[in-house]
Amino acid sequence: MNFLDFHCDTIGECYLQSKSLLANDLHIDLRRASKFSAYGQLFAVWIPDEKRGNAAFSYYCAVRDRFYHEIQTNFEYIMQCRSKEELHTAFSQKKIAAILTVEGGSVLGGDLERLDSLYRDGVRLMTLTWNDTNEIGHGCFSKNKNRLTRFGKDVVQKMQKIGILVDVSHLNERGFFDVAEYTDKPFIASHSNAKIVDNPYADARNLTDAQIRVFIERDGLIGLNLCADFLGNDGNTGMDAVLRHIMHFFELGAEKNLAFGGDFDGCTVHPSLNGIEKIPLLFDYLLQHGISESVLEDIFFQNGYRFLVANL
Ligand SMILES: [Zn+2]
Repeated sequence: MNFLDFHCDTIGECYLQSKSLLANDLHIDLRRASKFSAYGQLFAVWIPDEKRGNAAFSYYCAVRDRFYHEIQTNFEYIMQCRSKEELHTAFSQKKIAAILTVEGGSVLGGDLERLDSLYRDGVRLMTLTWNDTNEIGHGCFSKNKNRLTRFGKDVVQKMQKIGILVDVSHLNERGFFDVAEYTDKPFIASHSNAKIVDNPYADARNLTDAQIRVFIERDGLIGLNLCADFLGNDGNTGMDAVLRHIMHFFELGAEKNLAFGGDFDGCTVHPSLNGIEKIPLLFDYLLQHGISESVLEDIFFQNGYRFLVANL
């Protein structure tokens, strides 16, 4: 089967825990991932909210260099992709297609020019905020419920101009609607579920129906998050919870806007889903529970691939 996933924190964990991407005890390694016929993964450099200014950028550089190191060391398995042509090359050579992303616009340190250097590094998606406030806007757990800043408006417009995908996962609701207003191209929520779960984490992080409708209108993309807190409550956070979120997205008509952003190595995941090797089992489970093979192929790969080909 094919799999394309829009968010994981694996490369940051490889850096922090000095683990190899080839074989490790994390959620993702290349050995386990090479079982797919085609596999694309967006690898995020997560910037903690404690890091701002030069500290945020230095941390990004360190994790980015770890990403480059893993790509070079494991070139037989994996290839960095910066364009749709490179994605095509990776898949035709049966290599894992890896795209570098940043989770946290604090990496810019308030400097618009820094987007150009991220682009040169091969960054093709940036999540505007993490949970708290930064120079661009306010995360979903920030006390500040305001709009994007003036700088934030400039950032999203420049991102779309130079070709870095705008990611609204973690952003507060006001900021989300600002992104919709300030941009004309499609944007993405790389790892966000539907607001159908009643707990404070899910309530802040998941998407309202009104937000989901914007993705449908704008040909945007939503990556399903496998994080237990955002899927359900009381241990009901496994495959059935994923099915429940998918059915909600389908009810709103988001069949062509849905992909995966599993958040592997960035959160706690139910034992039935806690690693890249569980993805084929999830596919089978959903198939057995009434979703057709062609719709599943869309969610697990084609919707995301189509989105990248149209927007990279
Ligand atoms: Zn995240």
